[in-house]
Amino acid sequence: MKIVNPADGSLLRELPDDAAETIAAKYAAARAAQPAWAARPIAERVAALRSFKARVAERSDELARTLTREMGKPIRQSHNELNALAGRIDFFLDHSEGALAAESVLEAPQDKLAERITHEPLGVIANVSAWNYPYFVGSNVFVPALIAGNAVLYKPSEFATLTGLAIGEMLRDSGVPADVFNVVPGGGAVGAAVVEQPVDGVFFTGSYPTGVKIATACAPRMVKLQLELGGKDPVYVCEDADIASAAESLADGAMYNAGQSCCSVERIYVHERIHDTFVAAFAGTVRGFKVGDPMDESTYLGPLARAPQVAVLERQVADALAKGAKLLIGGKRIQRAGNWFDATVVSDVDHSMELMREESFGQVIGIQRVDGDDEAVALMNDTEYGLTAGVYTPDEARARGMLARVRSGSVYWNCCDRVSPRLPWSGVGHSGVGLTLSIDGIRTFTRPKAWHLRSP
Ligand code: NAD
Repeated sequence: MKIVNPADGSLLRELPDDAAETIAAKYAAARAAQPAWAARPIAERVAALRSFKARVAERSDELARTLTREMGKPIRQSHNELNALAGRIDFFLDHSEGALAAESVLEAPQDKLAERITHEPLGVIANVSAWNYPYFVGSNVFVPALIAGNAVLYKPSEFATLTGLAIGEMLRDSGVPADVFNVVPGGGAVGAAVVEQPVDGVFFTGSYPTGVKIATACAPRMVKLQLELGGKDPVYVCEDADIASAAESLADGAMYNAGQSCCSVERIYVHERIHDTFVAAFAGTVRGFKVGDPMDESTYLGPLARAPQVAVLERQVADALAKGAKLLIGGKRIQRAGNWFDATVVSDVDHSMELMREESFGQVIGIQRVDGDDEAVALMNDTEYGLTAGVYTPDEARARGMLARVRSGSVYWNCCDRVSPRLPWSGVGHSGVGLTLSIDGIRTFTRPKAWHLRSP
């Protein structure tokens, strides 16, 4: 595998990727190691993950630089991800013992009957991951999975391999046995080979097309399958919204991490009464974003992680302009080594355009005028996806009314591009099945066992 810096196309490292035999050997080792890991008291596993959190904090400067070099995230945003990881891990540290404790649901001594539920680890799970927030999307899976007593075969994205290997090292140094958390580096073919192992669960974060391939491969095997996929996340700005603060919040929601978040704002609908003022304020905010070397602390927008995405954005913009949209800012590839595209704002869009239908996963956004709440809700729901959706208005009842009608895993009132460890993270339709985070996102790595106990 070649690890290439997306900011300048330079080669960072060459590494061997895993092959069929080494993947099968890692699976066998994980299978052998899992029972002893699960047999340890949960407090020991929690302690190992607490130590992992401390190691991430100790190495955070070096880890941020590695992440920025291999996937292009501006260094400030790499630090933000690493700093916020601590809070996410804390949620699992604080709540796993409670969530996984055995439950007594019936004590009926007169009938000599008791009923209990225990939460058993699945066994060995495969975790095929994405590159855009490798610490977040990885830890949403491997932290609770390990605490619950599973062994994990972790396939980091080929665009975040060095980060994936560092995660493996830190877990090992924290007391998680090497065979209990095994990193399997490689690209799509390696991911497919990991999924083919006779694992007890497959947990995937990535795109809808890859999710379909994985679901198809797993279908006959009756194993637990979770797919956290893409989105085309809409937001509606009502005519009574604070235009300046909505514009600022949404420009950040659309462009942070170069728009490469699963919950990035991907479509904006604006009430016709404030449309022109909003568009001017939004464009003004985007013009202020500093584009440049992602290693520079003051950079807000860096390169795209993947070279082919530049052509996807070019195509979406060209399609929109050919169908009558208006280009306000940007619109083209930046001519320099690496994967660069202008921050791009397009207005006068509609749903005939790819820009409003296909996930952009880049620093490109379309803004559409609407005549009121009903049209906005209908357009927000006019998608195969359903990850997040938001409404900006000071009127809470109005926002709640609309958000109740939106088909979406998460909904936001006056905020966007936000994930909380306390809330379930899930999608509807092409955005996936299953969930991570919240108490349910701890239990998802277990199977409930029902105990019917009748005393003699
Ligand atoms: P991707 O689908 O290209 O790749 C994801 C992972 O799958 C990588 O590790 C890749 O090597 C592997 N893979 C590729 N082909 C495979 C196959 N046939 N079998 C098994 N594994 C295979 O996605 P990506 O570019 O890494 O991530 C971007 C996508 O992920 C976007 O659509 C984004 O919205 C989505 N995403 C979703 C969430 C969420 O929580 N819902 C979070 C982050 C990213």
